[in-house]
Amino acid sequence: MAKRKKIASGELALIARLRAMAGALPAGRVRLGIGDDCAILRAPAGHELLVTTDFSLEGRHFRRAWHSPQSVGHRTLARGLSDISSMGGQPLAAFLSLALPRAVAQDIRWMDGFLAGLLTLAAQNKVPLAGGDTSEAPGTEVLADIMLIGSAPAGRALTRSGARAGDIIYCTGALGGAAAELAALSKTPTRFRHAQSSDEHPHLFPQPRLAVGQALLRRKLASACIDISDGLSTDLQHLCEASGVAAELDAALLPAHPLTAALAPAAQMAAILHGGEDYELLFTAPAKTKIPRSLAGVPITRIGRIVPRKKSRARMSIVAEDTRFELQPRGWEHLR
Ligand SMILES: [Mg+2]
Repeated sequence: MAKRKKIASGELALIARLRAMAGALPAGRVRLGIGDDCAILRAPAGHELLVTTDFSLEGRHFRRAWHSPQSVGHRTLARGLSDISSMGGQPLAAFLSLALPRAVAQDIRWMDGFLAGLLTLAAQNKVPLAGGDTSEAPGTEVLADIMLIGSAPAGRALTRSGARAGDIIYCTGALGGAAAELAALSKTPTRFRHAQSSDEHPHLFPQPRLAVGQALLRRKLASACIDISDGLSTDLQHLCEASGVAAELDAALLPAHPLTAALAPAAQMAAILHGGEDYELLFTAPAKTKIPRSLAGVPITRIGRIVPRKKSRARMSIVAEDTRFELQPRGWEHLR
């Protein structure tokens, strides 16, 4: 096998910057971080480990012409944190693998912006960056892979497979905001160049719902949970398949993100049902379980119910003005 080609001059400088910037994060359960062959983590007693990896690929998940480096860094980590949140887990450490075109590796401003975006979100969620890898990209696009290690009390992590007929379906926050912001971005790519991380930018700076997932686990509220990364319709389909059930949504109950108001009605409904990357949580709970109106400051909305799976009926349906429609999983295909 050919020896991997590394970024000759830029790489050591890049790793030094990364190490210096990551060094400001609290170590948490990382006993040994960046700088050795492996990181060493102290697993919490009585817990199981959660592991997830997610690609962030230029041209697929972001464009350098549209997304600021801060946004790219933030979104790279947010994808992994959201997966930990959907299991009710506590993130222990993040690992970042980056393949950079030479021009980007030498662009200190881009690199610093990317790392600042990633490490600001890491600091907010007390997640150490404990290692990773860098390499020269074979093409002209930035390729990032984030790996998150988390933990949950043994046997108690939330999964997609626990929903039962009769359960109520809930979601956190509001839906369609990321798709609506992306639509605005595609019209005026430079519009949000200087946007800062906040709830007002659901596409550029999504906020993973770690505290909500942890509250659902701790208070034993949810029977199943998934994060809405691909869109409500597609992720609800995943949950239904894993649980062997079917679902009915009530269109009037779906919480529309304020940014969707700028869209035409059909596009607004499409953003809410199919728009990806909201990174809200979709969960189910038995009808008798009392679910608070908000958890960790995030509103919780009842949006439908789980029903028995019948071969003769569609897996998912949505009721709007007393009419039932079949709901197809049409999750957003990112930039395609
Ligand atoms: Mg997920």
